[in-house]
Amino acid sequence: MPNYDYQCLNCQKHTRLFFSYADYGKVTPICPHCQSDKLKRQIGRIRIGRSEESRIDSFVEDNALSNLDGDDPKALGQFMKKMGRELGEDIGDDFNEVVDRLEKGETPEKIEKAMPELRDNTSSEE
Ligand SMILES: [Zn+2]
Repeated sequence: MPNYDYQCLNCQKHTRLFFSYADYGKVTPICPHCQSDKLKRQIGRIRIGRSEESRIDSFVEDNALSNLDGDDPKALGQFMKKMGRELGEDIGDDFNEVVDRLEKGETPEKIEKAMPELRDNTSSEE
């Protein structure tokens, strides 16, 4: 019997429920912890996360991150620029500004102070 992973939006617990193919879509899933019917499917998101991670891993290996000097902002800026291109996504103005500042020789600490919104972005990310 196929099983489906859910997160309960009411009590936030993860649940694995079993349905036959015939029942799936007809039967409303119910949280066994709090009896809520507000359950959200989990599968797609987990897969996306994994493929994204493996892309970054292989990129880091290819470019020998171990050679990178953490005290050299210019090298770090160049590395981030390459990584942004490799991911092929529009990472945003904040990212580009950080790269520019690194390439001018500013330290990550100084950039963080100059751009306090960076911290908010990373902590509020779901
Ligand atoms: Zn629940």
